[in-house]
Amino acid sequence: MEKRDLLYEGKAKRMFRTNDESVLWVEYLDQVTALNGGMKDQMQGKAELNNQITSAIFEYLATQGIKNHFIEKLSKTEQLIKKRSIIPLEVVVRNISAGSFSKRLGVEEGQVLPTPIVEFYYKKDELNDPFINDAHVTFLELATPVEIAELKKQALQINEHLSELFKKIDLQLVDFKVEFGRTASGEIELADEISPDTCRLWDLVTHEHMDKDVYRRKIGDIIPVYQEVLNRLNQLSIENKGE
Ligand code: UDP
Repeated sequence: MEKRDLLYEGKAKRMFRTNDESVLWVEYLDQVTALNGGMKDQMQGKAELNNQITSAIFEYLATQGIKNHFIEKLSKTEQLIKKRSIIPLEVVVRNISAGSFSKRLGVEEGQVLPTPIVEFYYKKDELNDPFINDAHVTFLELATPVEIAELKKQALQINEHLSELFKKIDLQLVDFKVEFGRTASGEIELADEISPDTCRLWDLVTHEHMDKDVYRRKIGDIIPVYQEVLNRLNQLSIENKGE
């Protein structure tokens, strides 16, 4: 596979075309941002960590029947993915109250929700990614009602698989964000990344934050925290291979 010209540069990764028009080359960046770019820092080692964590999670989800865009990890900071037409929605699933949910509804962080809640945010930087409902998604022609049902179904399935996976490594999946794309034949498929940048993970024993809140809330350094998440995932895969 040959790397060609830059297609897109985001806050945490760059995407390049390849000699195969259905495949993209992703390069993770050593950059961390929050508050829609209001906080921005270089963090040496973050690219490697998120690329490895995302790759491991997408591979795991594929084994659980969740089709996704991931093809293969190329190097510590690079991976190949299938090109998808991304739906401009952040699909958030919540198991425990935290973050914007707690603020918006006036509920303390840490309340276990009786059933997971799926939310949609419209990905539009100039509007600050507003919280929207199904009718808004349809009105904006981001997805049809049938596709909305599919997005929710897959988001909840992903939640089940991820909650179980993280529980095995003593992490509680509080909430997370995923993005979906359409394949050439119009099927909805998981895309983007799943990492401590996009999930809230609380240590089951110490209740410490093991995710980007460490940066957002200026609690400490994210690198050792993300490294610990990767170590635990690697340990789990070694144990599984040994079985
Ligand atoms: N999230 C994300 N990207 C965003 C916004 C949120 O990955 O642009 C993730 C975030 O890490 C958390 C979940 O989505 O796991 C819910 O975030 P929330 O709405 O609580 O917003 P926040 O408090 O992070 O601003």
